[in-house]
Amino acid sequence: MRQVILICPIIYPMSAESISPGTGTPRTRRPQWNYQPDVPLPVSPLFEWPLNLPRILNWFWRSWFPVSEKLIIVFTAFISWTYFQPPLEVSQNFHIEWVALMWLRNCALMTAVAGGLHLYFYVFRLQKDAHRYDSKAFGKGRPFTFRNQVWDNMFWTLASGVTVWTAYEAFIIWGFANGFIEVLEWSQNPVWFVAIFLLVPIWESFYFFLIHRWLHWKPLYKFAHHLHHRNTNVGPWSGLSMHPVEHLIFLGAVLIHWIIASHPVHVLYHLQYFALSAATTHSGYNRISKNDKKVLSLGTFHHQMHHRFLHCNYGGLEFPWDKFTGTFHDGTEEAHANLKRHMRAKAQELRQLRG
Ligand SMILES: [Zn+2]
Ligand SMILES: [Zn+2]
Repeated sequence: MRQVILICPIIYPMSAESISPGTGTPRTRRPQWNYQPDVPLPVSPLFEWPLNLPRILNWFWRSWFPVSEKLIIVFTAFISWTYFQPPLEVSQNFHIEWVALMWLRNCALMTAVAGGLHLYFYVFRLQKDAHRYDSKAFGKGRPFTFRNQVWDNMFWTLASGVTVWTAYEAFIIWGFANGFIEVLEWSQNPVWFVAIFLLVPIWESFYFFLIHRWLHWKPLYKFAHHLHHRNTNVGPWSGLSMHPVEHLIFLGAVLIHWIIASHPVHVLYHLQYFALSAATTHSGYNRISKNDKKVLSLGTFHHQMHHRFLHCNYGGLEFPWDKFTGTFHDGTEEAHANLKRHMRAKAQELRQLRG
């Protein structure tokens, strides 16, 4: 039996078969998704009780090794710090030169990752539609800036996203340079030095849910977050395409470095992780693959669902707030039915309020 779902900005006809778990093989009927990973989507075992150490270690291992975006970003942070960061001595006073150099470096990084993935997947189509969640073309016309989704996304990413990213980075580096924040050296506490890299994604997941829930508060949604949600289907440039106020809120998580002991390389990593992994998680593809073998995991299906359905999956999988608060859509038919029920109840509530 066909149903019509009215819970998202676009109406999606779907059948029970179309949302059933699959292994990514394209379907013959008009499918809900072009590709869907195995469901139910697993969340981090960090908060399961009793603690299951082998599962936790396995989760960490699989999300970091043998190669992952996290590991690559640790590498880019060290390269940035070693070769492309103005010395701390010149960062004691704000000056356009060193801040502009950092902006240019961040711009180059963002363009390399988002632009590189866009060229690979959408211009040269090197992977065709293999492991692509939604095969619809990017939007044109209203409401996009320049009436073109890709140009819109590039503009907000580079003009606002990279600028706010650099502003936070410069502010914290200035704090280090002036001794307002103590620099934690590797030799002082190597365990904590490494642990920070592992904890940043968990902190991001913890923080992101809270601010994202807040951004869905109607006044703030209308004022800022709607800009990110212009993208019902997403591409690499969509990840950091946000309103400047959302950039300030989203990237503000990095201010924690004013409180906890860390090194400037952690700050570079922290911001690069937020910005660059926004491009990878919104790539629209589950992975880069070669001969059907996974090379690198990319887009997150739970967030792809958030862009389409809007009222679920506000957070990540590392800190599973959505599971705790009942807003988790794990990709199954049952979770989808729950979401529809929830939306119907909300719509009825609204009708009653309006009399
Ligand atoms: Zn949202
Ligand atoms: Zn998003």
